[in-house]
Amino acid sequence: MRAFFMVRMEENAGMQLNYIANTSTPGSSGRTIPVIDPSDGQPFDEIQRSNSADLDSAVQAARQCLDTVWSKVNAAERGRLLMRLSASITAHADELAALEQRDCGKPTRQARADATALARYFEFYAGACDKLHGETIPFLDGYSVLTWREPHGVTGHIIPWNYPMQIFGRSVGGALAAGNVCVVKPAEDACLSLIRVAQLAAEVGFPAGALNIVTGYGHEVGDALARHPGIDHISFTGSPRVGTLIQQAAAERHCPVTLELGGKSPQIVFADADLDAAIPAILNAIVQNAGQTCSAGSRLLVEQAIYEPLLQRLGEAFSKLRVGPAAMDLDLGPLIRQSQQQRVWDFLSDAQVAGIPMVAQGQIVDEAPDTGFYQAPTLLRDVPVDHRLAQEEVFGPVLAAMAFRDEAHAIELANATPFGLVAGVWTRDGGRQFRMARGIRSGQVFINNYGAAGGVELPFGGFKSSGHGREKGFEALYGFTALKTVAIRHG
Ligand code: NAD
Repeated sequence: MRAFFMVRMEENAGMQLNYIANTSTPGSSGRTIPVIDPSDGQPFDEIQRSNSADLDSAVQAARQCLDTVWSKVNAAERGRLLMRLSASITAHADELAALEQRDCGKPTRQARADATALARYFEFYAGACDKLHGETIPFLDGYSVLTWREPHGVTGHIIPWNYPMQIFGRSVGGALAAGNVCVVKPAEDACLSLIRVAQLAAEVGFPAGALNIVTGYGHEVGDALARHPGIDHISFTGSPRVGTLIQQAAAERHCPVTLELGGKSPQIVFADADLDAAIPAILNAIVQNAGQTCSAGSRLLVEQAIYEPLLQRLGEAFSKLRVGPAAMDLDLGPLIRQSQQQRVWDFLSDAQVAGIPMVAQGQIVDEAPDTGFYQAPTLLRDVPVDHRLAQEEVFGPVLAAMAFRDEAHAIELANATPFGLVAGVWTRDGGRQFRMARGIRSGQVFINNYGAAGGVELPFGGFKSSGHGREKGFEALYGFTALKTVAIRHG
């Protein structure tokens, strides 16, 4: 098996092409972008630096597919196609994981979990295709009123680099299931697995143009996607800054947009919590994917009575964490790129200037090349609520701890950022569980767990600056459709 993956990676090495209308297609500019391995900082492949003409080709292919083929494929048949793609992803899971591991610096277990999640998204949405339906509405005598859920048409998907396969799965899986066709712009740092998935889709029978991949820089081809008049809906996952640009561009032509932006999510621990269960979950919520997770639990709010003992136990756990090359499959791999590493360093240096105490740091192993983008996980304490470490997304393995007095104070601190994506609450008190869930303004609240193991069934999205619209779960299908009301007067 392993030998096969090596061959496949060798075949793919050297030059990645766009995938438009089921055909590997060079970009029209003739320019490429190097693909860097975050574990050693060295280039090992190239992707196309596409431009607006390439994007236009993809949109035209998608439109033609929609008009001539895809709109005539019934819901049950769409479901079968998605299920075949899920099976093919499972059959190629190790290969896809290997591609994404090298591209993004993911430890082996994480890369494999992401490939499994990708297959699961297509499985879930395969089963949903023929269960998405409208309603009949009681109305005046002599009328029949019904609603239809119609696909938007050509949907654009701008994907970030932190979980390319997972975010592609939740976004493209839902869009295809609802009867749309897709033009996908992966992040320039993370294209390889998605190009391969599009090839697999063609192999299992998706018609040419249903799923198109165009690679390149965000400010070039991403911007072209946001402005293209042939795109009927945009699903964007990424930073709040770029989310604003996308929404502005889409507003010019009143194109609907789903924005999945960042977070500064709190993990809230009351004195009655089961700390043996909470500690590994708290750790994982900031360490997973080296902290480069939009829903990372990057703030730790602890009830005063257990602040010191919890920090002591967490500090011991942090100091045992090891960081190294992705293939070593340690607790953390490298960060995606040098600028991300610099961003984390800037936060830590600001913490030092502000006199914020460091409780503990993990270790970067000796085998980690100096040219890789490594960062030791870091636990900071007594972080002032208005410091940027308590307000802004680091997008690295840095946990900012602070103490709270009581329930009301915990809710006040939890809501004291511009974000509202996810929250975790640890308490055995049933009444408090509900009060906290009601009081926290975020798209997901987890009680006595953090993240529910990813749950593709669970709607996900933000309050406030974390975005709007929901992906994942059945709810996402409503966002990928437009509701049409049909009123028939029949006397
Ligand atoms: P980013 O916003 O820089 O890039 C995201 C995508 O947007 C990439 O494909 C990029 O090429 C593209 N892009 C960049 N500039 C663009 C422009 N002007 N027009 C159109 N497209 C453009 O973010 P990132 O660095 O890739 O990811 C990190 C950020 O994404 C973090 O803030 C993180 O919280 C957020 N994120 C959110 C979620 C979520 O589901 N809420 C998931 C993952 C990442």
